[in-house]
Amino acid sequence: SRSKSCTSSAGESDSNQTGPGNPYRVVLLGASGVGKTAFASIFAGAADSMDSDDCELFGDEVCEKTVEVDGEPATITLLDTWDAEVRWNTQCNMQTGDAYLLLYSITDRPSFLRASELRITLRQFRPVHHTPIILVGNKCDLVRRREVSVSEGRACAAVFDCKFIETSAAMQHNVWEAFHGIVRQLRLRRDSKEA
Ligand code: GDP
Repeated sequence: SRSKSCTSSAGESDSNQTGPGNPYRVVLLGASGVGKTAFASIFAGAADSMDSDDCELFGDEVCEKTVEVDGEPATITLLDTWDAEVRWNTQCNMQTGDAYLLLYSITDRPSFLRASELRITLRQFRPVHHTPIILVGNKCDLVRRREVSVSEGRACAAVFDCKFIETSAAMQHNVWEAFHGIVRQLRLRRDSKEA
């Protein structure tokens, strides 16, 4: 269970339970510069004027939006932990999320190692089998600067028992697939709880 002091400014009162009517809290985690802000911008619709009105902004780093996944609406509260290194000490991010997008940049091996560290820390705070996590290798458009291969990313995800996807926020490639994937995993978890 989460402590109130550890929640962010958004939706504190009604989102402690994850269900059809409650938003899923999805946290963006990763080293600085991997593309978390770019992900949040795409989610918020900043790069897509058609969508820019339907995102409720609660603060700099929280955005709530209802998206359709497999024909069913899902409300996501996105937390962009832009200063994860600072907020880390509070351990809040590790406790507020229902699911995590764990980002690294395929052009930045230290960020890949950082993702592994974050995954290990996450495991200490979250029950391993119940928290959906997707390992996201971002910046896959930068082919010539690649430092982490697809197979390394996939192998890392297998070790950490999470899904894997490569994305390019710059090209808007696979970013929504990552968000939809996390919703599907959250639904599977919800359905298995109800069963
Ligand atoms: P954050 O520190 O994790 O929030 O990272 P940002 O979203 O601020 O991204 C850091 C830099 O990488 C910015 O200059 C972005 O424009 C750039 N960037 C983010 N995603 C991509 C991507 O998929 N491809 C490329 N080429 N650049 C990206």
